[in-house]
Amino acid sequence: MLNLLGYMLKNGVVTSKNYCPELDADLIGLPKVTNEPCIGTSCSACESICPTSAIKISEKDEKAIVTLDRGACIGCSLCTRVCTTEAIANDRNLQTASLDREGLLLSNEKPPEKVVKKGKHSMFQNSIAARVVSTGCSACDLELSACNNPIFDMERFGVHVVASPRFADVLLVTGPVPKAMHEPLKRCYEAMPEPRLVIAVGTCAISGGVHKNGYAEANGVANVLPVDAFIPGCPPHPWSIIDGIRTAMKNHL
Ligand code: SF4
Ligand code: SF4
Repeated sequence: MLNLLGYMLKNGVVTSKNYCPELDADLIGLPKVTNEPCIGTSCSACESICPTSAIKISEKDEKAIVTLDRGACIGCSLCTRVCTTEAIANDRNLQTASLDREGLLLSNEKPPEKVVKKGKHSMFQNSIAARVVSTGCSACDLELSACNNPIFDMERFGVHVVASPRFADVLLVTGPVPKAMHEPLKRCYEAMPEPRLVIAVGTCAISGGVHKNGYAEANGVANVLPVDAFIPGCPPHPWSIIDGIRTAMKNHL
């Protein structure tokens, strides 16, 4: 804390010049699947320790297959700590968003395919108005707020947060969307003018995260509304959120 205060007093608060820079080496990002050899089902340490069952270890043609669902991952880093071969390792890249749910499934069997959808409209290419609906613990909301601070300054990328769905082009949903929020979320979506986008911000909004299959039926926003982009993380880094929104802006249908 003192180091941080000292840094800020010395340098001031400076808006980041680089778009979506990699995380510093000592920081923890989401896990990634590498080409390092996995020991296989005789190990399965990562699968056993994962609190959200985001990892599956299997074997095919005598090769160990690691499958990681970033849409279920809460970024606890337990898997990267127990893996002795670095078949699962820390990812410092913050461009983690996907336009489809399958794009969050990482595997050493085949490289993840980047979905590139060509948009029919161009009106959101340069600017978009966003309405936020929070249904969760608010950690994702704090990172969304950070997107508007002087360091990240999301407005310079054309993303403007509005108070009313009547003025919104995109609905940013955080939290696992429990049953009590299904109807309010649908009503908010219906109040938005078309064309309109929906982005699931954070692992809870994507899959329910740690709430998945609980009594509150909080299994993510895709059970209630069509989703145009998925931003994994618990919570996602502000750069991941900004990049996810920009990816949706450039590629929406
Ligand atoms: S970092 Fe993600 S995949 Fe790894 S153990 Fe934690 S929740 Fe599971
Ligand atoms: S990825 Fe690492 S921890 Fe998981 S089964 Fe393979 S070697 Fe073991």
